Amino acid sequence: MGYNVLENREIIDLSPMLVPGKEKRRLTIRPFIAELDKTIMHEIDMMSHLGAHVEAPSHFKPEWPDITSLDIRSFYGEAVCVDLRYKKPREAILVSDLEKHVKNGDIVLLYSGIRGDEAPYISKEAAEWLSFHIKMLGIDDTINLEESYELMASHKHLLGKNIPIVEMLSNLDKVAGKRFIYIGLPLKIKGLDSSPIRAVAIL
Ligand SMILES: [Zn+2]
Repeated sequence: MGYNVLENREIIDLSPMLVPGKEKRRLTIRPFIAELDKTIMHEIDMMSHLGAHVEAPSHFKPEWPDITSLDIRSFYGEAVCVDLRYKKPREAILVSDLEKHVKNGDIVLLYSGIRGDEAPYISKEAAEWLSFHIKMLGIDDTINLEESYELMASHKHLLGKNIPIVEMLSNLDKVAGKRFIYIGLPLKIKGLDSSPIRAVAIL
């Protein structure tokens, strides 16, 4: 394999564009001039859960590992995007929807095509099953992460086993049903519960 092994592969950008001042969550950038050399820099003010972001265990329980405490290998690797476009609005995603597509140690992305409140949800049985089989879970707004916000089964099972959760991905319609290499590295800022990422699929 040469060094240009990635050059000929199709790459899909899985992070949505973020526009300061246009997002529902806080995002402002403020330019300033560096005193020493008069170059342009920015101050950034944003939430840790904005755009494509990866959540660490400390998002659910503060005493659990933060985003810098997880092995960097948690955030890239062989991935599959399970195509759930046959699901009905608000239907449960079951173990039987996943087990024929998921290999042990996979990064698993889910896509249903139904956006918002009507999106299918991950049943608590499926959340628990995923926690025994996968390395990371990624979703967009076509999947409800939780069956119930009292139970919080997905957060509890996955983050409880140091399996990060990626939210607000985009372009999953372009990778649904496919296998690829996924990469989405967090910033290395101590104490963060979650970090924005630039996520890509390399087909
Ligand atoms: Zn989040």
